[in-house]
Amino acid sequence: MEQILQAIQDGASGEDIAALPIPESYRAAHVLRAEQDMWEGVASEQKDPRKSLHVGDVPTPELAPDEVYLAVMASSINFNTVWTSIFEPLSTFLFLDRLGKESTWGARHAQDYHVVGSDASGVVLRVGSAVRNWRPGDRVVVHCNFVDDQDPSAHDDSMLAANQRIWGFESNFGGLADLAVVKANQIMPKPAHLTWEEAAVNGLCASTSYRMLVGRHAARMRQGDTVFIWGATGGIGAYATQLVLNGGGIPVGVVSSEDRGRLLRAVGCENVVDRRAEGYRFWTDEDTQDEGEWRRLGKKVRSLAGDDPDIVFEHPGRQTMGASVFIAKRGGTIVTCAATSGYMIEYDNRHLWMKLKRIVASHFANYQEAWEMNRLIDRGAIQPVLSRAFPLEQVGDAALTVHRNEAEGKLGVLCLAPGPGEGVTDPEKRERIGEDRITLFQRHARGELQP
Ligand code: NDP
Repeated sequence: MEQILQAIQDGASGEDIAALPIPESYRAAHVLRAEQDMWEGVASEQKDPRKSLHVGDVPTPELAPDEVYLAVMASSINFNTVWTSIFEPLSTFLFLDRLGKESTWGARHAQDYHVVGSDASGVVLRVGSAVRNWRPGDRVVVHCNFVDDQDPSAHDDSMLAANQRIWGFESNFGGLADLAVVKANQIMPKPAHLTWEEAAVNGLCASTSYRMLVGRHAARMRQGDTVFIWGATGGIGAYATQLVLNGGGIPVGVVSSEDRGRLLRAVGCENVVDRRAEGYRFWTDEDTQDEGEWRRLGKKVRSLAGDDPDIVFEHPGRQTMGASVFIAKRGGTIVTCAATSGYMIEYDNRHLWMKLKRIVASHFANYQEAWEMNRLIDRGAIQPVLSRAFPLEQVGDAALTVHRNEAEGKLGVLCLAPGPGEGVTDPEKRERIGEDRITLFQRHARGELQP
């Protein structure tokens, strides 16, 4: 890998990169099948990803005709890596085994180790014989929709494909590694004005928010819509906030500290709800919700935005869904993609049907949606929300930080990139878009935002 890194840093030609040998093994963050029961009897919050995520060499798999080998310069932590590392709600080896039964190439994935990670930026090293649009030397980012294009169910909306998967979560050979195997239809051009780690953090979260709010399959936000966003400085929430502002909507963002409120205002969201300061208690005990608390939140939103939300951007799940359904405007939409605090959901159905609201499910994004989102980032309309970057060796610490809700925006992971700040090939464009805008979350993490 050292030779590969040297060639990339020297700006070697595509031909030279294509001539470099592919190593027989590579450094990767992975969990082990032998440890999948290690957390039995341990409460979720006590499970420590540092104990289950290992960094070490794994064998390089053979390349299928529709795939490329990627030299991964940087990757990021997504919540799905937290789920894998705590083996909740399922062990991801179940996904690998299912994929292993589907085809000869699928069988490569059913290993006793799972290389995790669903984001990457890097350089194409080799392309399979069926790859047409990409060449060795291309600088790219990866989206995580892993789909079989020979399945007819994939051809209206690939997120509806019967065997749609999330790369690096439901498949092996993911991005938290020095090398990755990706399908050619997961690749997009790397925005030239971003560093490797800034480019690596957007694929999964930004595309998810794009589909939830902008794409034609979910909430379809219009200009002037009021959009209520849980976790508005978190991974998907920080992109959602930017998409609402960029699309002429009115965001109302929720955070859990004054400091996060300051960051949210710096993004441009004036309507901030500090859920901790407000002390909302939607559940009085494990079985009972308090409608009075839902109403209190609704009043707060009206006092800030002057209106009820046309769209509620929902992902915390059990803790918040009752409130989300309640506060949405008559005829409004609750769009959900997750259930961080629990997936057995309760809400008062009377508020849904009598006020003609709808709950819309959304999950990641199809290639076209991911491409459109990447284009917005490439044009400088949406900024990466990288706050910090960890070396690959500290991937467990990074995952623990996300698990404990201790970071804003996204955490990057440096894989082959020897340090932060590398990979910009269009500095003029970076200057035009504005260093301050691009690095807002990084400056916040360094304590550089004015109180
Ligand atoms: P992050 O941890 O980066 O951010 C989530 C934010 O949600 C936190 O910052 C926190 O903000 C808020 N939050 C957490 N718990 C609660 C709670 N109980 N009540 C209210 N707010 C809460 O995670 P991501 O944004 O990356 O992901 C969020 C969820 O979405 C995860 O479950 C993830 O797995 C899922 N996801 C699903 C995708 C899909 O394709 N289906 C794609 C991407 C993510 P604060 O404390 O400041 O309020």
